[in-house]
Amino acid sequence: MSTHSQVAIIGSGPAGFTAALYTSRARLDSVVFEGLQPGGQLTITTEIENFPGFEHGIMGPELMDVMRKQCHRFGARSIYEIITAVDFTQKPFALTSDRGIRYTADAVIIATGASAKLLGAKGENEYMGYGISACATCDGFFFRNQHVYVVGGGDTAMEEASYLTRFCSKVTIIHRRNEFRASKIMLERVQRNEKIDFMLNSTIDEYLGETLPTGVKRLTGLRIRNTASGEMSDIPAEGVFIGIGHKPNTDIFKGIIDTDENGYIVTEPRSSATNIAGVFACGDAQDSVYRQAITAAGSGCMAAIDAERWLEAQHS
Ligand code: NDP
Repeated sequence: MSTHSQVAIIGSGPAGFTAALYTSRARLDSVVFEGLQPGGQLTITTEIENFPGFEHGIMGPELMDVMRKQCHRFGARSIYEIITAVDFTQKPFALTSDRGIRYTADAVIIATGASAKLLGAKGENEYMGYGISACATCDGFFFRNQHVYVVGGGDTAMEEASYLTRFCSKVTIIHRRNEFRASKIMLERVQRNEKIDFMLNSTIDEYLGETLPTGVKRLTGLRIRNTASGEMSDIPAEGVFIGIGHKPNTDIFKGIIDTDENGYIVTEPRSSATNIAGVFACGDAQDSVYRQAITAAGSGCMAAIDAERWLEAQHS
């Protein structure tokens, strides 16, 4: 298989696959580097109710599978590797994967998306995977019939809390304020749910746990700080889900592609063009405002059209 393509798309969420759909239909040889999480963030969610075209909703993994097949139908190829380094100083552009393979491309579309943010509290790294999770869909099942905690006051936290009530006996939402960023409809759904209650003006200061004689670690509690009074209290807890938002996956472009102070790629107004001609960006890696599957898909389409026009201009 050739390691050169006309368009290399880094990332395989709605932005990446939509970009690939458009570039492959434009008869451009297109490659999608699927990365760490093939199919992107929607593969670890449940039902998507707000992607137009699906009257009764669609499961996240299914939607991504269909998007992948749709762009493959027009000739786009998926490569199941992670791009770990880029060199945009030469043409064609060079991309190196985690397998040490060097790929080249005439144009690049960055669609690397975003990842779940963590609190950074003491003990978080230690007990991650041993009681702490950032994905209810992935890990909820392990907490059957238990009382679990969800951190955050946005739609992610509300969605995670609702989902967890399928398995858990009780879900407590820990939120640092007493007002919510979540949309009204999702907040109301949570407020109506008898299995969910709230611990407001509260934040986790430290994760408490133990190491069993077998060497396995286990979360046993949380040190909670009241954000209004500063008062500390310890509560027992065996499961915590962090739902406080996301950070863009743009570390490999640091110092190469312009980003804002939060790491989101800066594009030209009404365009997907980055500071490097021939490199375009779309989706959650570039959008700190809307961050929806449908807006990511729309911006993937824009990046594909921009890349196509730019490539055409190089040959005219
Ligand atoms: P948001 O930025 O909307 O909310 C993040 C929440 O986490 C806020 O309540 C924030 O608190 C809290 N938070 C952030 N950092 C910390 C911290 N260090 N310690 C404690 N709390 C913290 O992110 P979401 O991921 O919830 O949502 C992002 C976007 O995705 C939104 O547009 C949302 O509508 C959308 N979305 C839609 C869904 C759907 O429709 N099914 C599902 C999930 C997300 P504070 O309010 O105090 O800043």
